[in-house]
Amino acid sequence: MIEVKQFINGKMVNAISNGTMQLINPATEEVIADISFGNGDDCTVAIDAATEAFKTWGKTTPYYRAEILKKAAQFMRDNVLEFATDMVHESGKPLAEAKGEWMVAANLFDWFAEEGKRANGKTIPTNRIDKRSFTTWQPMGVVGVITAWNFPAYNPARAWAAALAAGCTVVAKPSEHTPFTGLHMAKALTQAGLPEGVLNVLTGDAASIGDAMLKHPQLKKISFTGSTRVGKILMDGASATHTKLSLELGGNAPVIIYDDIDVVALSKSAALAKFRNNGQVCIAPQRFYIQENIYNQFAELLSKEVAKLKVGNGFDDGVQLGPLITLKQKQHVADLLQMAEKENGQVLTGGKMPGHLDKGYFLQPAVVANLKQSSALAHNEIFGPVLPIFSFNTMEEVIEKANDTPYGLSAYIFTNNIKIALNTAQQIAFGMVGINEWTPHGTELPFGGFNQSGQGHESGSEGLYEYLELKLVSIGGL
Ligand code: ADP
Repeated sequence: MIEVKQFINGKMVNAISNGTMQLINPATEEVIADISFGNGDDCTVAIDAATEAFKTWGKTTPYYRAEILKKAAQFMRDNVLEFATDMVHESGKPLAEAKGEWMVAANLFDWFAEEGKRANGKTIPTNRIDKRSFTTWQPMGVVGVITAWNFPAYNPARAWAAALAAGCTVVAKPSEHTPFTGLHMAKALTQAGLPEGVLNVLTGDAASIGDAMLKHPQLKKISFTGSTRVGKILMDGASATHTKLSLELGGNAPVIIYDDIDVVALSKSAALAKFRNNGQVCIAPQRFYIQENIYNQFAELLSKEVAKLKVGNGFDDGVQLGPLITLKQKQHVADLLQMAEKENGQVLTGGKMPGHLDKGYFLQPAVVANLKQSSALAHNEIFGPVLPIFSFNTMEEVIEKANDTPYGLSAYIFTNNIKIALNTAQQIAFGMVGINEWTPHGTELPFGGFNQSGQGHESGSEGLYEYLELKLVSIGGL
């Protein structure tokens, strides 16, 4: 049994309360670690340490910070097999995906290391001859970063890399389901020379830690990646304390497929895109709207492709889908499937425990057809291996259906007609739109949603400015 402690002020420490929590491997249902279960008290100690560390870290140059972040990125690459192996144990995802995710995390540290050097201010001509005015960008101070389990490395990396490059110090709370990865990332940064207190990693009671972050006057901002439900709790709390927030919340991405596309090729790529990370992705292609003429053909081809996907333990060769993260998440997905069946939805493939597995939170990936727009599968974030398909006739109709959600993170459009593609993209209310591609994101691109999918951006230069404050300096009497 592995013991996992918290990382506060440069040291691995037990929770002040001495509380612990058991970590379960979702593929085997075995307890694999005893995790320190901290709370708001540990969080306050961490914020105090980060406040002290900010006094020096906040005054370093972006060039100095970049050297440390780049060394940390290299450490992640050098240790990718060990780090990815632990990610498979805690999250269940296939080893190849875990390795890929660590490489993307390393790239984020490299990219923000460089971008931190480009936080240029400007000189502004004024209406007085005896006055000069300019702006500079300054680090905000101590920031809290709360992240979800679905991408144990990518989620924290985007926020930590940007915040540290900007000159902020960080108190992080990775998901309680994936503590290994956050602590490995902290190790990479420590090995690279990050001074103590600049990054602190908590594990434990999320509500109490979130509350302590909101109430501490030195914590200037919380960056949160997770559910819309918790995002709202943080917004409520922040209204009392004026803590700034960046929120990367849920999604309900429409996929709009017009009838001029290559149905065979798209059915293959759709099966892979939808079930990446078992559908546990906030930008997962979720509601598939297929133009009437090709609906039956697409449904048939897609079901065949989905039935071929290999489900199993993330360490087994060729596995494309691991287990869902928890029994609760599996139950949530199974409940949605049951609701769809009650609404006369037709399960074309999947939806059951795979026959060759007797343990773990697995589900065979499912395709569900014959659904109406009122279906639960059109309105709930599925976050699992279920692909519902709906039909539509005109562009106007599908735009209305796509926008029929309070979420607004990502959307996908497939057509060879540029006019239809751009008109559709313009009229749908989503922050990221992929046209003829499944990955409308990247280290250098702003990631963020409209409506209830959040506020602010991660990655890209926009992601850096989330951790910087604009200061105007004006000199008179010249
Ligand atoms: P998910 O269901 O995707 O895990 P959550 O929103 O439940 O999304 O969790 C995302 C992160 O938010 C996790 O690190 C979790 O521990 C944390 N969290 C959960 N509840 C709260 C809360 N009340 N305040 C602050 N953070 C929370």
